[in-house]
Amino acid sequence: MKTPQKLKGQAAIITGGDSGIGRAVAIALAEAGAKVLVNFAHNHDAAYEVVKIIKDTGGKAFAHQCDVSKEDEVKAMFATAIKKYGTVDILVNNAGLQKDSKFVDMTLEQWNTVISINLTGQFLCSREAAKEFIKRGMVKKRSAAAGKIICMSSVHEIIPWAGHVNYAASKGGVSMFMKSIAQELAPHQIRVVGIAPGAIQTPINKPAWETPAALNKLLDLIPYNRIGQPGDVGKLAAWLASDDADYITGTTIFVDGGMALYPGFADNG
Ligand code: NAD
Repeated sequence: MKTPQKLKGQAAIITGGDSGIGRAVAIALAEAGAKVLVNFAHNHDAAYEVVKIIKDTGGKAFAHQCDVSKEDEVKAMFATAIKKYGTVDILVNNAGLQKDSKFVDMTLEQWNTVISINLTGQFLCSREAAKEFIKRGMVKKRSAAAGKIICMSSVHEIIPWAGHVNYAASKGGVSMFMKSIAQELAPHQIRVVGIAPGAIQTPINKPAWETPAALNKLLDLIPYNRIGQPGDVGKLAAWLASDDADYITGTTIFVDGGMALYPGFADNG
C-alpha cells in the first residue's frame, strides 16, 4: 500500500542522510512526498545510493556534501536547497558521531570534534532553517506550520555515559537547545522537536551488536528485547514532520524499546 503523501510538495534537508538513521529518515520523508536534500560529509557513493532509491520509487532527491560544523558550508547547503526547491520546509538535524575515550584520557580534539558536529552543527543548520521559515512564513496548502525542525538526540540526553562524556554532553546540549529554540520560534508557527533513539542497529554502534555475545549484553538494557532498526526512527520522523503532529513542539520522543526506563531496576523492586 502506498504511504499517504502527508509531506507532499515540502522540501526537506536531512543531515547525515547517507547512512544509518539519516538514510532511513530521508527515505521515509520521501515516501511521504517530501523532496529531499540528502546531506553527506564524505561518503559520496552512499549518498547517491539513497538518492537512487528515492528516485527509483518516484520521489525527488539530490545529494549535497557539507560538513555541518562549518558555517560557510551550511549556508551554501541551504542556498543550494532553496535554489533547487524554492524553499525549505523541514530540517532533520541528524548528523552525529562518537569519539570515545576514558574521561582522563580524552583529548581536546576528541571533545571539540563531537561538540562541533553533534551540537554546533545543529545550531548552524537550525539557524539557517529558522531564517528561511520566518522569511517565507506559512504556506497553508503545504503545512499547518511555517516550518519544522527535528533534532536527533539520544537516550544519552538523560542517561549518563561513562567513557563517552563528549557524546552525552553533546546530546544533553541538544535537549536544551531544542527546547529553547522551540520556545523562541513557536510564535512564528515553527515547530521544533527532538527524537531520542535508544540502540539502533547502524554503523555508529557496530561493536555493540556485531557478535551474538555483544548483542545479548546490549539486550539486557532493552526491556522490549530487540535492537531498534533505522526504520523505527524514520517512521517517527515522518510523522513528527507531518500535520498529524501539529500541536507537538519543544519535547523529545524516545524511540528506545524502554531503554530509558532504568531496566536495571526491573527485578529489584
Ligand atoms: P551513522 O554513523 O550511520 O550516521 C551518522 C551520520 O552522520 C553519517 O551519515 C555521517 O556521514 C554523518 N556525519 C558525521 N559527521 C558529519 C559532518 N561533520 N557533517 C555532516 N554529516 C556528518 O550513525 P547513526 O546511528 O545513523 O547516527 C545518526 C544520529 O543518530 C546521530 O546523531 C547519532 O548520535 C544518533 N543516535 C544514534 C543511535 C544509534 O543507536 N544508532 C542512538 C541514539 C542517537
